[in-house]
Amino acid sequence: MVEFGHILQILYSNMANKKERSLVIVKPDGVQRSLIGEVVKRYEQVGLKLVGIKMIIPTEDQVEAHYMVNPDFKTNVGTKTIESYKKKGETPPTENPEEQGEFVLNGLKKYMVSGPVVVMCWEGLHVIDVVRKITGGTEPRTSDVGTIRGDYVLDSYQLADTDNRAVRNLIHASGNLEEAGKEIILWFDESELIDYRLVQEQILYDVNLDGILE
Ligand code: GDP
Ligand code: MG
Repeated sequence: MVEFGHILQILYSNMANKKERSLVIVKPDGVQRSLIGEVVKRYEQVGLKLVGIKMIIPTEDQVEAHYMVNPDFKTNVGTKTIESYKKKGETPPTENPEEQGEFVLNGLKKYMVSGPVVVMCWEGLHVIDVVRKITGGTEPRTSDVGTIRGDYVLDSYQLADTDNRAVRNLIHASGNLEEAGKEIILWFDESELIDYRLVQEQILYDVNLDGILE
């Protein structure tokens, strides 16, 4: 008879997918600030695996397609920002999330095509959450210290909205697995993503840590 505990174990091991993938972009300000190496280092040192990387200058159409992989992007981004203004006791530029979202998307289309970006695909356990944790919150004004955005950049919704541009926060990182899947297909051909093993995976994932002692 199969034990209940064993079934649970199988269920959990299927859910905990070591091959999840996330799309990360070092935005033009990150490249200009010479932070490509720092960004790569942060994800690398935690144990994630880089499976694709390239430098390109995106087009406005690519940027729009990228953010609109989630058809609710404008409403979501607008709602998030309006709430953030209110939480700080400040007045948002508009009460209409869709309008704020449209404004943000237009800003992003100018920002992201202003110079080269580095597009990367990272793989590993809970990669979406881990990458977002290391990257930090969207608005550098409140991104936690110790995160990439918190440590390396200084910007706010208030200043960016006043100056009529997108918030400069160095990095794009996929928000969830569904978004990631769609984004990765947009930026990479299948042949540009490499399946390989890293020696450290045995230490990260091997159940019994076999093979260390001779
Ligand atoms: P992310 O997933 O943390 O990058 O944040 P979102 O997906 O919500 O927004 C995409 C990008 O749009 C952000 O990284 C910022 O560059 C920019 N952005 C988001 N909200 C605002 C806003 O309210 N005002 C401005 N000016 N830029 C914004
Ligand atoms: Mg996002």
